[in-house]
Amino acid sequence: MKIDRKIQNFIDGEFVEPVGGRYLDNIEPATGKPYSQVADSDARDIDLAVAAAEKAFADWSKKPAAERSKILLRIAGLIERDLEELARAESIDTGKPLSLARTLDIPRAASNFRFFATAILHTQSEAHITDNVAFNYTLRQARGIAGLISPWNLPLYLLSWKIAPAIAVGNTAIAKPSELTPMTAYLLCEICREAQLPNGVLNIVHGTGSNVGAAITAHPKIGTISFTGGTVTGKKVAEACAPLFKKVSLELGGKNPNIIFADADLDAAIAGSVRSSFANQGQICLCGSRLFVERSAYKDFVDRFIEKTSSLKVGDPLDEKTEQGAIVNKAQLDKVKFYVDLAQKEGGKIALGGSAPESINERCRDGYFFPPTVITGLPVSCRTNREEIFGPVVTITPFDSEEEVIEYANDCDYGLASSVWTQNLNRAHRVAERISTGTVWVNCWLVRDLRVPFGGMKASGVGREGGIEALHFFTEAKNVCIAR
Ligand code: NAD
Repeated sequence: MKIDRKIQNFIDGEFVEPVGGRYLDNIEPATGKPYSQVADSDARDIDLAVAAAEKAFADWSKKPAAERSKILLRIAGLIERDLEELARAESIDTGKPLSLARTLDIPRAASNFRFFATAILHTQSEAHITDNVAFNYTLRQARGIAGLISPWNLPLYLLSWKIAPAIAVGNTAIAKPSELTPMTAYLLCEICREAQLPNGVLNIVHGTGSNVGAAITAHPKIGTISFTGGTVTGKKVAEACAPLFKKVSLELGGKNPNIIFADADLDAAIAGSVRSSFANQGQICLCGSRLFVERSAYKDFVDRFIEKTSSLKVGDPLDEKTEQGAIVNKAQLDKVKFYVDLAQKEGGKIALGGSAPESINERCRDGYFFPPTVITGLPVSCRTNREEIFGPVVTITPFDSEEEVIEYANDCDYGLASSVWTQNLNRAHRVAERISTGTVWVNCWLVRDLRVPFGGMKASGVGREGGIEALHFFTEAKNVCIAR
């Protein structure tokens, strides 16, 4: 497997040029320089992908589940075989530390295929007897062509989280990775060919959101849309899909609260909070960017949190010792800097970080780096505390009571995930029940069991991906009612 200079589309089992012949530069975040080119496709390429996906649907949807399962398991095995190369490609493409790509993104991409490959072998159908009148059963059928649109922060992991359930249940798919991080999706195409996935079952079309993404959401033959990305884009996707009555799942932004009670195991809470604040440079939708600490533990927590955070090694993502890599692009780096300035205007104090590092190494001289940054002294309702930054910047605020911190946690448009650190079991249950987020982690963060529903509340999205919910999302539940 090699990292090509030109990333082409993958349609009907072939690598093809975009119809318009245009390419975009693919920039390596750690160096700020182009290292490959990616197809800049448009609606004409989506038409070709739809034709291929439509043709493949008839056979693929009728294949026995066991056969589809075998192919998905082969894909999982090949991802595991190529783990090192995929991790390196992902690190170059995204700027994340190689060690993170190797231990999180790529293994989880393999798990996604493995999980849905076996899940389809164990599904059940519901049956309902209507007294002496009728017998009903639920027939779950593949819906047709699924459009899968994903962001740049966990490119292979999030795309495979959509591709695997969509094709496992018999749909064919057109996937659009982020134009900022297309490399691992491109490499996945080679794996799919080697795994003998039939042509046209998975088509990957590269390009911008306004060209390719919009063409997917507008296409009348793509009836299912699974989207992960920002909340502003999510609105556009919802608007495009509504008049066509598409089935839509939206996984959107987050501004997640991380609550530390004074009775928590502080060692665990500090280690967990450093991770949840700064993993992948804070560019994980689930990162806990608003920390709330009970006042009696506040000073101790802040001192120790800052001490531990300041030991994180910011460096070249390809260096094995690096714990903090590059920000994905210049626009995202500018956004981070904008919010650090704003925080100071809003009265915040920079307790750690706050300005770009002097130098990383010669290779990374022009890369997009920003250190872990901790801000204190801000009011809960200010913009810095309400808007998603999606970078290595967190705020810490003290609180005095359980009631107060629940109010703080919910005082936000987003509702994706939260963490609660306490050793009081009753409190953990009470608080979890009252926080408006799709996931509540207690004394942990980013623990993922693929069987559980996953998704956001409020502006963090609608629909649930994961487990049985994903299989249901990608199928149509038809009721067959037979008179007795
Ligand atoms: P983004 O919304 O800019 O882009 C996401 C994808 O949508 C990209 O592939 C993009 O090309 C495409 N797109 C852009 N405009 C489009 C349009 N009009 N129609 C269709 N598609 C379009 O998001 P991003 O900057 O790539 O990713 C960061 C965001 O994603 C953050 O807000 C983060 O919280 C969110 N995110 C959410 C989850 C989750 O599970 N909830 C997971 C990861 C990231």
